[in-house]
Parts: sequence; C-alpha cells; structure tokens
Amino acid sequence: MDLEKYRQTAESFLSRLDKEYYLHFAGLKEELNTSVIYNENSWLFDRKNFDDLKELKDNEKCTDGKTKLFNLLKFCGEGFIENQVKELSDSIAEQEAKAVIKLNGEDVSYRYSEILLSNEADKDRRDEIDDARNDIVKKEFNPKLFQYWKELHNQASLLGFTSYREMFAYLKGEDFNNTLLQMEILLSRTRDLYEEHFGKLLLRETGVELKNARKSDFAKLRRADSFDRYFKKELLVSIFKDTLMAMGIDVSRQSNIIFDVEERKNKSPRAFCSTVKVPGEIYLVVMPRGGQDDYEAMFHEGGHAEHFSNTRASLDFEHKFLGDNAVTEGYAFTLEHLMQSSHWLSSFLKMPADEVKEFVYLSSIIKLWFCRRYAGKLKYELSLHDGTRIEGKENLYKEILSDASMMQYLDAEYLKDVDEGFYCTNYIRAWIFEAQLKDYMHRKFGYAWMKQKKAGDFLREIWSYGQKYNPSEILDQLGYRELDVDYLISSITENIIKNK
Ligand SMILES: [Zn+2]
Repeated sequence: MDLEKYRQTAESFLSRLDKEYYLHFAGLKEELNTSVIYNENSWLFDRKNFDDLKELKDNEKCTDGKTKLFNLLKFCGEGFIENQVKELSDSIAEQEAKAVIKLNGEDVSYRYSEILLSNEADKDRRDEIDDARNDIVKKEFNPKLFQYWKELHNQASLLGFTSYREMFAYLKGEDFNNTLLQMEILLSRTRDLYEEHFGKLLLRETGVELKNARKSDFAKLRRADSFDRYFKKELLVSIFKDTLMAMGIDVSRQSNIIFDVEERKNKSPRAFCSTVKVPGEIYLVVMPRGGQDDYEAMFHEGGHAEHFSNTRASLDFEHKFLGDNAVTEGYAFTLEHLMQSSHWLSSFLKMPADEVKEFVYLSSIIKLWFCRRYAGKLKYELSLHDGTRIEGKENLYKEILSDASMMQYLDAEYLKDVDEGFYCTNYIRAWIFEAQLKDYMHRKFGYAWMKQKKAGDFLREIWSYGQKYNPSEILDQLGYRELDVDYLISSITENIIKNK
C-alpha cells in the first residue's frame, strides 16, 4: 500500500469532516453531509487497507513507527465499520432532530425538551417531560438503534473479532477489565460518601429524596441556578481569556484559534471545538447562555482548543490528529476543573468565601456523580458489546446504571445512552490522568497554579506533543508509575469533606 498517500488522504478527510461538523453545528449550514465526504474517500476504509496496515504494524520494529501504524489502523478500523452504517446513522440523527413530543397539548422538539427538563422546578412536571422523552425513544428511536448496533456488531465479526468489545480493546490497545477494576474501586470506596452527600444535596436543591429520584432530576441539580449570578453570560468569554492570561497565555494573540461567539438560530447551545487543521485552524464555538454548566462546557472545550493550537506543526499527522483521546480529554478537564478550585472561584468570579465553599461542594458532588455514572456505563457497555445477543439487555442497563447512581434509571435509553467505540473509557482515563496531573501541578506550582506563568509554560510544553504520548507515558515522565484511580478518589473525597 502507498502509506504516504494514505496518510495525506486521511488528514484531508478528517479536516473536511471537522469543517462540515463546524459549519452545521455553528448554524452556518443547515444540512450535515458527512456521507458525501465518506463516499469520496471510501477507499480509506477498504478491508485491504485494514489488513495491510495490520501487517505493517505487526512487522514494524521501531517503537514510534509502530505507534503511528497503530493509530492509522484504529482510524481505518473505526472508519470501516462506521462506513457500513453511515446512512443509518444519518437517518438516526435526522429522526432525532425532527422529533417532537407533546407537553400539555403543545408540540416541543425532542432536543429542546432537555433544556426544559433542566429548568423545570416541579418534580411532577419533570417526570412528565421525562416520560414523554422516554416514550419517543422506545417507540421511534429504538428500532433503528437496534439495527444500528446489531450491524456494528456484525461488522466487528466480519473483521475477524469475536465481538465489538474485543475489536475495540484491540484497536485502542486497552485492557478494559483493568479500567473497569479501577472504576469498581471508585464505586465501592465512594459509595457511602456519595449516598450521604449526593442525597443531602439533591433533597436540598430539588426537594427529591434519593430513593424517589430519577436520572432526570439530576439535570435540575446540575443546572444549579442559585449560582447564576456568578456565571454571567456576558462574562463567559472574557473570564476564559483572563484565566489564560494569568497563566501567561494570551488568547488574543493565538490567531489559529477562531472564536465563534456570534448568536445564530441553529447554533448548538453547547460549546464545542472543531480541529480542522492542527495546529493551524481550530474553531472554538460558543453561544453563551450563562450558568455553571455553560462555564464548565466552555472551559472544557477551551482546553481542547488550547491543546491542539499549541501542538507542534512539525509533528506527524498520526500524532497530531490521531492517538489516544484520553490525552486531549485530560487537558480539557484540566481547565474544566478550575470550577472546583477555590482560588479560581474567588479570584476570577469574585465569589465570597462562604459561597466558594458551597459551590466547590456542589461541583465536586456533580463530578462524583459523573464518575460513578461512567463506571456504570463502562460496565454495561462491556456487556452490551460482549458478542451475545442484544435482546433483553434493557434490564441490565437499568440495573447497572441505577445501582451506580442510586437514582432510578429507566430502560428506554439502553441503546441510545451508549458511546461509540467505548469512548467512555477516554473520559474515565482522562479523569484519572487529570487528577494525577493536578497533583503534580499542586506540588510544583501550588494550589493557585492558575495564576502562575510557570504553570502556563508547563501546560504549553505538554500540549505541544499533541497526542504523541499516551497518559501513562506522560505520567511516567512526571514521576508517576501508572494511571492510578487513588488520586481521583482522594481529590473528590477531599473536596467534598473539606467543604461540607
Ligand atoms: Zn472533550
């Protein structure tokens, strides 16, 4: 195979795909035509290329060469199976975009109903919205989703794997059992703490007892509107820029980050980052709404934008665009988790001390909820994709997720609340990675690291390697032995106990 041609085409394919996503979700282009881009480049995902790349990788002696081929193989394998279901996935997205539910006799779009859910103060009305949403998922979305996952499972076996799970363990080079083991430690060690504090907070903020709570009640808790006065819509972008400036990073001079803050009708209400060229053309798209969750999303996406815009242009495509996404997620969390830093809250949001305490408590409990939910998701997704039949797994979803979150999960979303290609493990490993990185930064630069140019220089240095090294390799350079869930557990536990 012509490896050079393959790499170049893969790069321009990803670049066009990301531009298409940017234009559509920024509200600049109504339709989303990813299948055209796939069709024009479909040879990238030929079975022959997959087999050739696998053989080249197996015979490669140089470590860096092997890593690069490994990244290309993952790109090719993922593309291969996605290519087989692209019409189906386009039609699933279209169906969801057009779906309408009835609330009090009025039509509300399915997607918008999620925002209503998080703003609805009345538990009964929240349950009504949730029921209507689940109803449409069961009746209208699930038949297609069933077909979608069944076909992906089928494709994994055509590629020679015993299951979708085995395929992704191989392509990601990851021992899922080990990741699950770490998360089971987190589940058991935080169980009592979570039950007590999450239960207390939920009752206080929403009036709902944990034993009667549904997953949808979490949306209201997370919205945390009592703190809205600190998370003003008009200040979102400037607070982000001021934060980076305090670390010696002048965002206004980073011409490769294109800030898209204009209001547009069809623009995604959630911030996102599109990496059209790394490091040359990065879009950071925001439509400020205000509120703590809006700030969280902005800092998360801003973390991705900073990572890729600081990546060295001279790196190979395989290290700039591909690699282990737990790295970029870890950098996104590094900025997102400023929301749990009392130094940041008081310096940049001018929050008074007593409210800082209250907010760090709330934000850390929300983080714990997410960690526990993802532990549950991984456990469930490992079963969903284990090569046995999908039929009947809705109960498994309900049981596992309800047990992890201690809230009632209904079974409707058992095929919808599922990450492609075990993306959930990227978040899990990124949380652990970030907790260790934060431990390093606290020891080296202090708890107020975000106000130090030295910390900014350090981040810029590690960002510059793109995704050439995985989290374990980066941590090894910083003196840690491995990804270790202990750091994550202690940081969350301390923040909750200290601020209760
Ligand atoms: Zn992310």
